[in-house]
Amino acid sequence: MIGLFGGTFNPIHYGHLRAAEELREMFPLEKVVFIPANNPPLKRDALAPSHHRFEMTRLAITGNTDFVLSDIESKSEEASYTVNTIGEMKRQYPGDTICFVLGLDAFLEMPKWFKADEILVNVKLLVMTRPPIPMEKIKDSPYIDKDNIRMNDRLSQIRLKNGRHLSVAHITPHNISSTEIRQSIMEGRTIKYLLPESVESYIINNELYKIR
Ligand code: ATP
Repeated sequence: MIGLFGGTFNPIHYGHLRAAEELREMFPLEKVVFIPANNPPLKRDALAPSHHRFEMTRLAITGNTDFVLSDIESKSEEASYTVNTIGEMKRQYPGDTICFVLGLDAFLEMPKWFKADEILVNVKLLVMTRPPIPMEKIKDSPYIDKDNIRMNDRLSQIRLKNGRHLSVAHITPHNISSTEIRQSIMEGRTIKYLLPESVESYIINNELYKIR
């Protein structure tokens, strides 16, 4: 099984990396494919240029042979739509089971996504805990069959209204966000130990996220 991990990665941090590594071990996933978005329609706030986010992701996953970087979204000029990316990745990995990895915050936003219903049919979702949101919040999603929820285990299956299932993974919570990192940079505070040193150096050398 291959996990697709999409995100703005603006910048990538240890919250992303540790989550991906725990999920890989838990399922297990053969590979986690990191897919930095070029032009995400719903996340344009303080967005570093696509080539910088791609390069930071490359630096962050260097050395982990189970992690792969895809330029499928970053190379395109058009808005990144997950539904299209999943279709393309299924063609790139024929014969493999593909699943789409996302945090609870992102899953709760899914009703705003382009063709979200199609995504739910085309691919298995792996939803992971994303602090500070309590996992019970998943009941707020319009896609969930609320009569069939049992989530006591580290890894559980939840039935969707469309009859399919998604996996819910309780990973170790790391309350790190790109927003908080960008904020710290703007305020001149340290970002050490929130992200790999190689990414920190890249941010400093390229003067990213500073007020201009
Ligand atoms: P921002 O603060 O700019 O909104 P972010 O930190 O949420 O960014 P994204 O690149 O938007 O990072 O996230 C990509 C995916 O990774 C999403 O599915 C998100 O839920 C998940 N994710 C991000 N940070 C964490 C974390 N600390 N723990 C678990 N999942 C995370």
